[in-house]
Amino acid sequence: MTSLKIQNLDVQHGQLKAVRNLSLTVQTGEVVALIGANGAGKTTLLGSIAGVHRATSGSILLNGQDITGIPSHKRVQAGLALVPEGRKLFTEMTIEENLRLGSTSARPGYWTVDNVLEVFPNLIKRRHSKTGLLSGGEQQATAIGRALMSNPEILILDEVSLGLSPLVVNQVYDSLKRLLETDTTIILVEQDLTRAMKVASRAVCMLEGEIILNRQMSEVSREEITDAYFGLHKVKDR
Ligand code: ATP
Repeated sequence: MTSLKIQNLDVQHGQLKAVRNLSLTVQTGEVVALIGANGAGKTTLLGSIAGVHRATSGSILLNGQDITGIPSHKRVQAGLALVPEGRKLFTEMTIEENLRLGSTSARPGYWTVDNVLEVFPNLIKRRHSKTGLLSGGEQQATAIGRALMSNPEILILDEVSLGLSPLVVNQVYDSLKRLLETDTTIILVEQDLTRAMKVASRAVCMLEGEIILNRQMSEVSREEITDAYFGLHKVKDR
């Protein structure tokens, strides 16, 4: 079943076209790694899927429903959840309070505070601590848990490893592995190519707002992805 279908999407920041005529289809259960240099348009694309940025033209369909013009909280109800770069937690609130906030526009489903804590056991002891006092890894786990509380069909992760030590990044990705067993579709931005290649089933490389490589991970080499990253791979494949 097709999950997400983006067609001819343009997104502008003022005069700047950050996403250009971009089309992408993501199937249920896929893990798509969005790869590209700084400024390639990855965050803008994720934000436009989640409703943070408005499309200038084009369309975004979730399971056939046109969600292009609807506000972000309605997209959460439709099944999309974004973990933004920088986490954006309420630092004066506890882990548990932040998690409960994630269920405000929730769909019915599996995720409860207890089920999130089962996936992120490092949060159990600190569930009543203010998130501003947590380590980077604990904050990231809380941010992912908060997104899960809406019971998303598609989880969108923007640079979850940013600012974390390699050990903590391993812990975060170990937890994500358990999510993959639940058939959640994941779209993620990950700067560490080795990790992206390990966790994702598909590589989508962006350059200057466009997709220049879109391939099953099993059918693409590290060199091809690196070439696309630096703009050496000129063939467009969608
Ligand atoms: P990074 O890894 O640096 O976050 P990215 O691939 O996610 O890069 P975007 O953040 O989507 O890229 O940025 C795409 C382009 O849009 C860049 O040229 C950036 O400067 C510009 N841009 C992003 N956000 C805004 C904004 N709020 N206002 C104006 N320009 C923006």
